[in-house]
Amino acid sequence: MSHPLESIVAVQKKDRRLIKLMREIRDIPQRKQDIEMQLAGSVQKLETAVDSRRHTEATLKEQELEVESLKERITKYKNQQMEAQTNDQYRAFVKEIGTVEREINDLEEKEIVLMEALEKGKTIETECEETLNGEQAGIADELAELDARAAELAEQLERMKADRARVAELCDKTILQKYSRIMNNKRDFAVVMVESGGHCGGCHMKLPPQVTHDARNPIKVVACNFCGRIVYNPAS
Ligand SMILES: [Zn+2]
Repeated sequence: MSHPLESIVAVQKKDRRLIKLMREIRDIPQRKQDIEMQLAGSVQKLETAVDSRRHTEATLKEQELEVESLKERITKYKNQQMEAQTNDQYRAFVKEIGTVEREINDLEEKEIVLMEALEKGKTIETECEETLNGEQAGIADELAELDARAAELAEQLERMKADRARVAELCDKTILQKYSRIMNNKRDFAVVMVESGGHCGGCHMKLPPQVTHDARNPIKVVACNFCGRIVYNPAS
């Protein structure tokens, strides 16, 4: 007569594969979400770069217009200066023109800084675009692969569940129930071998001699006093 725990151990083997498979299935949506989040991050970076470049361009344009209007003012002052009636009036225009010219100089220095910033901004924008394009191409493939994997795993899961049910049919119902309770609780093993030296194969504590002895007996189902897992000693 075979030991009644042999078929339970066979179920446990299948359950362990099922747990692993279900974990992989469960992780797929998260993996897809991570990929989509990464893409959203790159879209955001590009948008920020575009906004920043446009802002620099607008500021530069404003300054250029201001320089134009200041230059027009100088032309106007110069015309008025030629018609000055007195030396005082003439000197007043010289002073005004000097002030406006300094303003223009300041603005033109700022324009140089802005133009450099604009060049940098354009480079960053191009880099962001290239990164995004690369990611978009790769991500479509990755997402399709994950979908295909999910479909494949779902099929595999159905086959494995049916297989598990067939093996479970061969088990003693009472022991199977006890096994299921422990498995749901421990999530790794419910039936463990007695290790050499009489230790529990689950928690590795030293088992009492009586438990080690009973673990050899096919008509007894014994549990480890420490972790509650069923201990099994097929070496008898
Ligand atoms: Zn134990």
